[in-house]
Formats: sequence, structure tokens, C-alpha cells
Amino acid sequence: MKKSIVVVGTLNMDLVVQAQRHPKPGETLLGTAFNTYPGGKGANQAVAAARLGAKVELVGRVGQDAFGEALLEAATNGGVDCRSVQRDAEAPSGVAVITLDSAGQNTIIVVPGANGRISREDLSAAEGAFERAGIVLLQLELPLAVAEAAIELAGYHATQVILNASPAVPLADELLRRIDTLILNKGELAVVAGAKDIDEGVGRLLRRGVRTLVVTLGEKGVLMAHGDERLRLAAHRVKVVDTVAAGDAFVGAYATALSEGLSPDQACRWGNAAGAIAVTRRGAQPSLPTRQELEKFF
Ligand code: ADP
Repeated sequence: MKKSIVVVGTLNMDLVVQAQRHPKPGETLLGTAFNTYPGGKGANQAVAAARLGAKVELVGRVGQDAFGEALLEAATNGGVDCRSVQRDAEAPSGVAVITLDSAGQNTIIVVPGANGRISREDLSAAEGAFERAGIVLLQLELPLAVAEAAIELAGYHATQVILNASPAVPLADELLRRIDTLILNKGELAVVAGAKDIDEGVGRLLRRGVRTLVVTLGEKGVLMAHGDERLRLAAHRVKVVDTVAAGDAFVGAYATALSEGLSPDQACRWGNAAGAIAVTRRGAQPSLPTRQELEKFF
């Protein structure tokens, strides 16, 4: 039977301001556009998996404000079960304030708000979701202690763990050993492995106990390492419009494939295709492919 995926993660409203150039400290500029987009790595990856047909439950926190309402609505419309997303009375919903200049360069400030208050109690309250799940999927926008507690709970329920180490922080060997698949991009590999060279970084993480390691390489595709096995897939050649959420599309597709009993090799193929589709479209959640689109792409 196909088992569900539990995502413990963040929901953020992306507030995107466009201007010719970035303001200097103390300066006021007139901008050219303003848009809001539902985001957060947890919500994006949950929607990515749900669009591909996975049964997904999201555990997280939003504020009791208009952004919280909109974030829940977007995730629910994306097919995600949000019954374990708490409405926090004390903190506002998480936001990412993004400024984009005419050259496409951005600056981003993330204020976690309610996301920073996800607690072990929230995980306990969502234990039913862990019982139903075949996979627990985590990112590192959450407090690390909560990610660790989720890994512990996954161990208790004999559930597979996928960790997308984004944003990257150095991780303890003890934690690395408890993860079934570690997914990160090149920059994140450098931080987690403490090595700039990809082969060196991969070798180090495998020696430290990572079972399956997946390194996404943007327009260069993906590398998977498992023991002595290596799989290298070139990226699909597509017309790139916006690379936002390529990684989230990859991770969501990878988790969905595993939840259907496919091998890590096959899961990388799904991720590689989903990432390629996502870069051909604008935005985060709107760019994530459906099951039908993925099948057609293959
Ligand atoms: P992140 O968004 O986390 O930095 P990457 O940039 O590595 O992640 O992208 C994730 C995956 O999306 C890649 O492994 C690849 O499969 C796909 N992808 C990203 N950029 C492109 C591209 N320019 N062309 C085709 N596929 C891409």
C-alpha cells in the first residue's frame, strides 16, 4: 500500500518588491511592482509531493493573521492535509521579504515568526500523522531541536527519513546516521561536509554515516551516492524562466517516488524531471508540476 508523507516544515508568505536597484541604507526608492506568493520550504515541498499524487500531511505553524489564512488555503488547495498546522495566537505568520532589482539580483530577509515556535508538543499532537506515514520529510528552516525530535519520532514508528539540509548548517554525525536520504545542493554540501570539492564532500559525508546522499547540481543535473554506487544524471535541456523552487520540486518528487516503493535511482529521475519543469515557470508553488505533466515530460 502507498503510505503517506509527513512534512514537518515552514510556511512563509513571500513578499516580493521589484525596483530598478536596491536602496542604500536610509534611502527611499519608488518600486515598480509588489506581489505576494505562498512559500516556505515545508509548504513548497508538501505541495510538490501532493501535486504528484502523494498523500501528504504538513506539520507546522502559522499566525492568526491574514497571511496565515492565505498560506493554509494555498497548501490545502495544493492537495496537502493541513490538520496539523497550528494557528499560533502569539506570533505572526512567517514572511520572506524579497527585493528584486532590474538585473534579477535579490536580497532576502526571512522572519520565521510562528515557524520558530513549532515545538515537540506539536509533533506529539501530530503523532497520528507519523503513524500513517511511510516517509518523514524535513528541511532546516525549523529549529534544529524540532528536526531532531521529528527524526526520533520517525525512528520510533520505523518511518524513513528524508532530510533536505536547506538552509545548511553543520550537522552532527549522530544525526546524519539516522537519515535515510540526505538531499542538498552544491553550496549546502560545502557547508555540511566542510569541503568545497564535490567528490571530497560526498566521500566525507558517506564516511560520516549518510546512507543515501543526493547532491542537486542545478543545470548540471544530479549526483547520487550510496555506498560505492554512484548515479550521475545530466539535467534535462529546457528553457529556463525562473529557478525558484527547483530544489523544492526535486525533493517533493523524490519523496513521492520513494513513497510509491520506487528505488532511490528512480526517485532521482523523478526529481530531475520535476526540477526541470519547475525552472520553465515563474514562482514557487505555481511552478510545481502535476503527475500528468511529469508523465508527459518523460
Ligand atoms: P536548489 O534550488 O535547491 O538550489 P538546484 O538548483 O540544484 O537546487 O536544482 C534542483 C534540481 O532542479 C536540479 O538537480 C535539476 O534536476 C533541476 N534543475 C535546476 N536547474 C535546472 C536547469 N537550468 N535546467 C534543467 N534542470 C534544472
